[in-house]
Amino acid sequence: MRIEEVASTTKAQRVATHTHIKGLGLQEDGTAVPMSAGFVGQEQAREACGVVVDMIRQKKMAGRALLLTGAPGTGKTALALGIAQELGTKVRIAGLRIKENKEVYEGEVTELTPEYTEGQGGSYGKVVSHVIIGLKTVKGAKQLKLDPTIYDSLQKEKVSPGDVIYIEASSGAVKRVGRCDAYATEFDLEAEEYVPLPKVCARMHKPRQCVAELVPGVLFVDEVHMLDIECFTYLNRALESALAPIVIFATNRGLCSIRGTDMVSPHGLPVDLLDRLVIIRTLPYTPQEMVQILALRAQVESIGIDEESLAFLGEVGDRTSLRHGVQLLTPSMMLARTNGRDEISRGDLDEVDSLFHDAKFSARLLAEQADKYIS
Ligand code: ATP
Repeated sequence: MRIEEVASTTKAQRVATHTHIKGLGLQEDGTAVPMSAGFVGQEQAREACGVVVDMIRQKKMAGRALLLTGAPGTGKTALALGIAQELGTKVRIAGLRIKENKEVYEGEVTELTPEYTEGQGGSYGKVVSHVIIGLKTVKGAKQLKLDPTIYDSLQKEKVSPGDVIYIEASSGAVKRVGRCDAYATEFDLEAEEYVPLPKVCARMHKPRQCVAELVPGVLFVDEVHMLDIECFTYLNRALESALAPIVIFATNRGLCSIRGTDMVSPHGLPVDLLDRLVIIRTLPYTPQEMVQILALRAQVESIGIDEESLAFLGEVGDRTSLRHGVQLLTPSMMLARTNGRDEISRGDLDEVDSLFHDAKFSARLLAEQADKYIS
């Protein structure tokens, strides 16, 4: 027997989780609308993120970075996406999968995907976008008043219209990485989307729209406590670069050791990096907010669920975690369909809840039955 083709489901899974987030949901005066742009609650953090967006627009974030801290599932990633969307860069959210820690700062990309990826399977670098340079011609680069070394490199590389280039932020080295036409098919550049590449990348306009344009991008590093001291040293330096992207870190850790050292520090970050950070905290959700977020997810995933079941799922989320609650939606819907229904009922949730363990329950079970497992 021969397996002809196995269709990958990873793409759909990766893009799925945050599709309801469309911005920060702020009013003109910067105050957060309780439910807007796909966001529910977390008003203070959203307003603080709005201030950061203003700082970025006014070019006041140079040399600084943002750190989002808070418990798992409290919307840190969602806030980073909201910021990128508010910046209006029309970024097609992109992710880089990175093999090992070291490759993050060396900028070696092992796989480039056109959509947002969760930091799974040994990778943790999440990139929303980067500083992006739209470049039709080398002349366009001159109009941008790029660093002269970059301009020289562009000429040396004989960059021509239609080339997609990659500029290494720390060294200014220019690499041609492909043709716009090829990328246009793959990434739908005509729809003004971007080719995500490390640190700095090129965006090609359609010829008739073309002039060069500098667009600030956002580099999102989730689970920042996973980086080691060498990465932090690199990041500290990189933040000073004129071409540095806007960097957003996120962590759900409190006091912990800095990887690669025996020093304990807030969020596992060295003090010199902490010094550069603007820190925003996310707070736990109330059961009512959980219900609202779950309702949004159900809507986005076209899942039918009645009020009573939604309230129960909110209780499950409150007892376990928001993410666990969201995760129960799909299997419950499958169960409902198997039973010939188009809407999740309380019975489906009861059954699915008893089938799947949440992380807290699983940890408790492991602690209680430690002798039954291989350690
Ligand atoms: P972790 O620390 O585990 O990485 P996180 O803080 O980054 O978690 P998210 O991944 O942003 O959490 O949130 C979990 C899920 O809940 C996502 O689907 C996210 O879009 C959604 N979500 C979180 N907060 C909100 C919110 N305030 N409004 C709407 N959706 C939200």
